[in-house]
Amino acid sequence: MTQPLFQKVAFIGLGLIGSSLARVIAAEGLAKTVVASTRSQKTLDDALSLGLISAGFHDPIDAVQEADLVVLALPVRATQHILDVIKPHLSEKTIITDVGSTKGNVVDAAKAVFGARLPEGFVPGHPIAGAEHTGVHAGKVDLFANHKVILTPLPSSADWAVQKLIRLWEYAKAEVICMDVEKHDEVLAHTSHLPHLMAFNLVEQLANREDNLDIFRYAAGGFRDFSRIAASDPQMWHDIFFANKKAILNAVDGFEAQLATLKNLIENEDSHALMGLLGHAQAARQHFNHMLAKKPLMENNKVTQQFTILPGAHTFKGTFTVPGDKSVSHRSIMFGAIAEGTTHVTGFLEGEDALATLQAFRAMGVNIEGPKDGEVTIHGVGMHGLKAPKGELYMGNSGTSMRLLSGMLSAQQFDSVMTGDASLSKRPMERIAKPLRQMGAQIQTTGERGTPPVSISGNQALKGIHYDLPMASAQVKSGILLAGLWAEGETSVTEPEPTRDHSERMLRAFGYEVKTEGNRISLQGGGKLVGTNIQVPSDISSAAFFMVGAAITEGSDVTLEAVGINPTRTGVIEILKQMGADLTVENERIAGGEPIADIRIKGSRTLKGIHMPEDQVPLAIDEFPALFIAAACAEGQTILTGAAELRVKESDRIQVMADGLKTMGIDCTPTEDGIIIQGKGKSGDWSPIFNGGEIESHHDHRIAMSFAMAGLRTSGEIKIVGTETVATSFPTFTALTEQAGLKIQVSELD
Ligand code: NAP
Repeated sequence: MTQPLFQKVAFIGLGLIGSSLARVIAAEGLAKTVVASTRSQKTLDDALSLGLISAGFHDPIDAVQEADLVVLALPVRATQHILDVIKPHLSEKTIITDVGSTKGNVVDAAKAVFGARLPEGFVPGHPIAGAEHTGVHAGKVDLFANHKVILTPLPSSADWAVQKLIRLWEYAKAEVICMDVEKHDEVLAHTSHLPHLMAFNLVEQLANREDNLDIFRYAAGGFRDFSRIAASDPQMWHDIFFANKKAILNAVDGFEAQLATLKNLIENEDSHALMGLLGHAQAARQHFNHMLAKKPLMENNKVTQQFTILPGAHTFKGTFTVPGDKSVSHRSIMFGAIAEGTTHVTGFLEGEDALATLQAFRAMGVNIEGPKDGEVTIHGVGMHGLKAPKGELYMGNSGTSMRLLSGMLSAQQFDSVMTGDASLSKRPMERIAKPLRQMGAQIQTTGERGTPPVSISGNQALKGIHYDLPMASAQVKSGILLAGLWAEGETSVTEPEPTRDHSERMLRAFGYEVKTEGNRISLQGGGKLVGTNIQVPSDISSAAFFMVGAAITEGSDVTLEAVGINPTRTGVIEILKQMGADLTVENERIAGGEPIADIRIKGSRTLKGIHMPEDQVPLAIDEFPALFIAAACAEGQTILTGAAELRVKESDRIQVMADGLKTMGIDCTPTEDGIIIQGKGKSGDWSPIFNGGEIESHHDHRIAMSFAMAGLRTSGEIKIVGTETVATSFPTFTALTEQAGLKIQVSELD
């Protein structure tokens, strides 16, 4: 590094946390000079011999002379005294930070010393990392790596100081979050201080029993896991419990109330409610872990995974069940929740989006068991049984949840706010808000340009309307019809062209009358839904990759079981048939109002290029990336027109597919609303079509899975970059392709 970040850093206190940061500063060469002041000479001697500091002082005044960064890394209760002592020796340009576990009292200490005008360079902080051992030897250079550091800048804090501290913590490989002081103390009271308090308390409770030796001797893993943090420093926790007294006592009140509820359920042997509570907690843990783990990835668009496929003779055979249909999974939860009685769902897609819907209904008081192996049981609360959620409803990346719930929530007796991740926060919500307002809803899209968060005021009497959809959208249609369930009179929608009718079909399966007359769909408000059993069909969009894989591979024979063949979704079957694929639809039946069938495809003849029928385009809109791979293997030219919507999906699917196809040696021309692909196939010749190469999927799961199928006909290695999104819609994708005969190497990247 040419210029270190700091000239002189002074640590006041150099134990676990201080010395870990000092190790980072030394390793990265972030300061010209590092000094420290501690109580004991031994700590200073040890720090000198470890090479962490160049000088040590008893008196903090000696340490802070001309320092441009002062780090208070000592117990928070000592803050005021230290600040008092060093105050006259700080310059206006000194950054003063701390690492204390509570923040309100640190700020109070600073106010007591500096008065209302706090120094510009004062920026309190708290690394959320630690260990049970303390002292200068316990420190580690990677203590903060992949952990969060919370900075709590004050109105008085200068931006230059905050930015410099962010850079410092980033060198420690920490993720820096800025938060206000009260929020920090409240959040930490619940997530750190309460768990520590509970751990100390449980160990104390057991230690006081007469048979305590037996208890500790035979303690199972659960006790060990739970009580680990009770081994932390009592002095430190004593200080923290006092320092954050108010927020901790609030958290304890909440805990006591919740414990009383749980105790009651066990006392009264309320099996349903107990299962609901435990299931809710289990799902909440998985859901939030998962969503929070995913969040930075979505927000930074960071590539964390790639697929590699090596050339070689591949077979493609077997009978498979691909994951459940997402649209049907969402609706099974929504309708089950407002139905009377119990709904049992099988084949539920346990992907992030459908789980967001599930979590939202749990937050509105619906008792839901599962999901476990695709099974979910929903104890419906009826049309008027939803309860006000305690906080915002987080919809993750799911546009379906947000648009359909906009309709349902507009009709409730309570206010609600829906938020989403970075990508959902950019999607347009006015297209559903506008018709809902015409029905009398009070709904606001509070993001810029009509985007989320969506804020809804309850207690509005909705009136049925007729709405001419300006564009074909199953989500908007469904959102209006769902609001119509509670509206006075008839609600009807006319769509410019048919869109997916999963809502209409499932409402009927729940016993609600929905009329479809040509393009006009209508229902009467004020009815009720009755709980039922729903088998979620396998998703035809997921099945499409295997259909295309089989269609382009010599001697293949693949059967996809119980695939949804809703007529609004079967474009891919029709198009593959027109291209000459050996495809049969077998064993057709109805499940949960939806037609399903087994689809069998054999690789027995070379596909041929076609002009894709425009009437099938809306019915195959999600399957085009896979169909482009089929077209590249076909004999002759394939032309797609009337598919401009492909350009505004998760990625510009026309451009991204064209780029990838060209990389792999396929001649193709993207057009405004489609593409022209020169197929390289020759009748009866099954030799490789693709040259291999490195493909950028732009985080689009369907692009990634489509190019993976090209691996069945490649002469060179294919690398597909940015495949982490595949797990969201098709978690078993690589396992199933491997069973079929196509090995995909998955590499996790840093
Ligand atoms: P530690 O290992 O015990 O180190 C504390 C350091 O502060 C020692 O160098 C000690 O000096 C010095 N010190 C103690 N009392 C002092 C006083 N009255 N005046 C001057 N110096 C004093 O503690 P730590 O774990 O690093 O914790 C430091 C801070 O980090 C605390 O505010 C804590 O809340 C916060 N924190 C801790 C953790 C964790 O898991 N431990 C996590 C996040 C934040 P001697 O070496 O001379 O004894």
